[in-house]
Amino acid sequence: MTETRDTVILGSGCAGLTAAIYTARAGLKPLVLEGHEPGGQLSITTLVENFPGWPEGIQGPELIANMKQQAERFGATFQLAHLSRVELGTRPLRLQTSAGEIETRTLIVASGASARWLGLPSEQALIGHGVSSCATCDGFFFRGKEIAVAGGGDSAMEEALFLTRFASKVTMLVRRDQFRASKIMLERAMAHPNIELRTNTVIEEVLGVEEKEVRGLKLRDVKTGTISELAISGLFLGIGHEPNAKMFAGQMDLDGDGYIKTTGNVFTTLNGQQIAGVYACGDVQDRRYRQAITAAGTGCMAALEVEKFLEEHGH
Ligand code: NAP
Repeated sequence: MTETRDTVILGSGCAGLTAAIYTARAGLKPLVLEGHEPGGQLSITTLVENFPGWPEGIQGPELIANMKQQAERFGATFQLAHLSRVELGTRPLRLQTSAGEIETRTLIVASGASARWLGLPSEQALIGHGVSSCATCDGFFFRGKEIAVAGGGDSAMEEALFLTRFASKVTMLVRRDQFRASKIMLERAMAHPNIELRTNTVIEEVLGVEEKEVRGLKLRDVKTGTISELAISGLFLGIGHEPNAKMFAGQMDLDGDGYIKTTGNVFTTLNGQQIAGVYACGDVQDRRYRQAITAAGTGCMAALEVEKFLEEHGH
């Protein structure tokens, strides 16, 4: 018989690792399942300036590596595995993963959110050939070239600013004339001599599919309807994220955009009824704050609820 674990944490971003630190310190020997984006969004970002305790900022991958080390020090273990199916109505809970079946008394879902794509066939065809959603991964390839960044939020501003290290010019394409970005990030981007901001602009097509290499964009001005072309060698997407919760559809209440609905911050529900021993934290259930520190905060809350649940229901 397989051993039944006290707790399994799905996801190794900021929320999952904080939950791992807390449950490991409580002696629960958490197993953290790392999916296709280990370390989550912080692991593909650059300087994090707003995580308390780092007055000069800290690089995202370093922050994540520190958290992982901290969790391991207290006995957390990590496994690369993809979750294919869950049974949340049984006791213990059953998880079917690419690494086999796992039984656990409690589950913390911290599966985060993944980069959103425009969904254009030409964009999809050119991913890895000039289209990217990760400036820190791919920016290096665009040294001395002109590129574009789509989006008007903090992610897009951060990507554009980072990409000025390599690109000779960055054109930011924003579909409305309003930005979601914080004032400080927007001001930095606007003040940069190598960044041009274009509002009311949507991308109709990425050009270069036949050549298998991005050579430009077909753009439409939403106010005037004017179609134009922009010659660029790279397109970076910074248009937000989609929650990684599809595998829970039907087993957990999700909202209209696919985020896990929670009550009391971290309690999951099915048809409005709490699911015993199953908690969600971080960006997979947070459509409002989505900060590293709030993910860490809910990761901590989920871990404390796991401890409480196991105390009440016996290990
Ligand atoms: P966001 O704030 O939701 O911004 C997404 C941007 O992409 C918006 O301009 C949105 O336009 C645009 N967009 C969405 N779908 C689009 C589409 N199909 N086509 C064209 N444009 C599209 O997302 P985010 O920038 O990823 O930020 C998420 C959260 O993380 C925020 O809370 C942010 O503060 C935080 N964050 C913070 C930092 C930092 O502090 N350094 C860095 C990165 C992220 P509309 O406005 O028209 O919807």
